[in-house]
Amino acid sequence: MGINIAIDGPSGAGKSTLARKLAEKLGYIYVDTGALYRTIGLYVLRNKIDPKEPDAVAAALPKIDVSLRFINGEQHVYLNGEDVSADIRLHEVSQYASLVSAIPAVRQYLFDTQRKMAKEHDVIMDGRDIGTVVLPMADVKIFLTASAEVRARRRYNELLERGQNVVYEKILEDVNLRDEQDMNRSVAPLKPAQDSVIVDTSDCSFDESLAILYKTVKERLNNKNEC
Ligand code: C5P
Repeated sequence: MGINIAIDGPSGAGKSTLARKLAEKLGYIYVDTGALYRTIGLYVLRNKIDPKEPDAVAAALPKIDVSLRFINGEQHVYLNGEDVSADIRLHEVSQYASLVSAIPAVRQYLFDTQRKMAKEHDVIMDGRDIGTVVLPMADVKIFLTASAEVRARRRYNELLERGQNVVYEKILEDVNLRDEQDMNRSVAPLKPAQDSVIVDTSDCSFDESLAILYKTVKERLNNKNEC
């Protein structure tokens, strides 16, 4: 069993960029579990399956192979052998990912892939239910959050930089909608694990947030070794 660090939180809290940097600093593998849900979402979108129909989505699962590979430390995700790492970042895929992630069969399907990564490597894994469901025994659990407005502004800037045509108000609406869906679903809802450290980055720069996370992880790991 490797060292497992779980980072959960709502969309746009900066989890992926911070977790990636933190993993680099610590020499761990960074696993972005949202990419797995996005890949299922992409398949459903491409094949015109209704993401709100659990039976239809569950019936498609045997036709979907999702795998992860790490190239120069970067996670790449494959859908039936095709590298879809770029396609899953399209804005419309986010909503599909959120909808399919509420389906228990989808969560069950991706559970083993996530567990296997954590067993075989020292990982920082980010998602919504890593500390609560996927890795309840994680060495360190962090719940990373920020206000909806700050998160929407960050997402907006990120999408603009990627050349996507977006409107801030629409992004804020989407952030609120996804929060609502992620927090209120009956299976694995987004919530902090009881033993997680809550970090709010609303008023922190990227470097400040990274420093807080690094310090938290080091302290928690040292404490674990002492007792
Ligand atoms: O993190 P990201 O925004 O890429 O995740 C896309 C969607 O996948 C989220 O809105 C969430 O609904 C879902 N997700 C999840 N559990 C995870 C990771 C992501 O339900 N561990």
